[in-house]
Amino acid sequence: MTATLIDGKAFAEGLRGRIAAAVEGLVRAGTQPALAVVLVGEDPASQVYVRNKARQTVEVGMRSIEHKLPASVPQGDLVALVRALNADPQVDGILVQLPLPKGLDARPVIEAIDPDKDVDGLTDVSAGRLASGRPGLVPCTPLGAMMLLRSVMPDVAGAEAVVVGRSNLVGKPIAQLLLAADATVTVAHSRTRDLAAICRRADVLVAAVGRPEMVRGDWVKPGAIVIDVGINRIADASRPNGTRLVGDVNFEEARMVAGAITPVPGGVGPMTIACLLRNTLEAACRRRGLPMPDLG
Ligand code: NDP
Repeated sequence: MTATLIDGKAFAEGLRGRIAAAVEGLVRAGTQPALAVVLVGEDPASQVYVRNKARQTVEVGMRSIEHKLPASVPQGDLVALVRALNADPQVDGILVQLPLPKGLDARPVIEAIDPDKDVDGLTDVSAGRLASGRPGLVPCTPLGAMMLLRSVMPDVAGAEAVVVGRSNLVGKPIAQLLLAADATVTVAHSRTRDLAAICRRADVLVAAVGRPEMVRGDWVKPGAIVIDVGINRIADASRPNGTRLVGDVNFEEARMVAGAITPVPGGVGPMTIACLLRNTLEAACRRRGLPMPDLG
């Protein structure tokens, strides 16, 4: 028996539909959520991401505000822009596209973001709120990964969860979310001994490593839920552009063993922007003193 495929593309589409319905309600009540995106420099990948974010923001009925700055912008001006967006009552969410060009230090820029508008969940205050179980904005990719997990395992309580990867962006927040959901969480990393044996214990195995197909089929416990966060581009001469995307899990092997698995592409990836829009909606509701609509 092969694993159930967890279709992140379809899930993200459904989520965006529910967000759009909630936004419509806010707009009817006379208030439109707005997301401000700051793009510094000309990095082509960042330009594509920002364009996609802006398009999807508008598609769910929110206002998209874009600030494009040259790579030569002084650090102080960038921080001043973030502070101006903090003070702007029209702005609900602020996202600074990373990485910043060489010469700019991302940390003080991120830390300048008002945590209540921190829709990427990257400030220290957001990380602290997540770690201490207080309401706050959660990083988008971990939130999306968790939603996909819950779509096949609504109750994670008591499950053995192993997260491979401990970055602030992905691994640590996913581990916090699993812990908050009462899973028993192990966080593995590059210094972990006998990683395969640890992975084999997992009812829920999350890979966020950045190493193509590192997690093999025989690392997966039969019936486990496998959430593959990895996005790696590898050479493939059979493809027109000579490359293809793979995850951190060897999909063909793992799907023969797992109970359910996210594919790459089409798994966690599409959830990231959908969760950014969800966070913007949450920030907008909280700033207006409104309850967060139930997005299912
Ligand atoms: P980082 O490089 O920041 O972190 C990688 C983590 O994996 C580190 O904690 C590292 O351990 C660990 N690691 C590296 N090698 C090994 C190994 N051989 N065995 C065990 N652990 C190892 O990556 P990110 O967390 O930012 O991203 C992880 C993956 O997720 C990437 O493929 C990235 O492309 C993808 N990603 C996808 C997103 C999306 O779906 N939209 C968004 C963000 C990321 P140590 O701490 O010891 O160095």
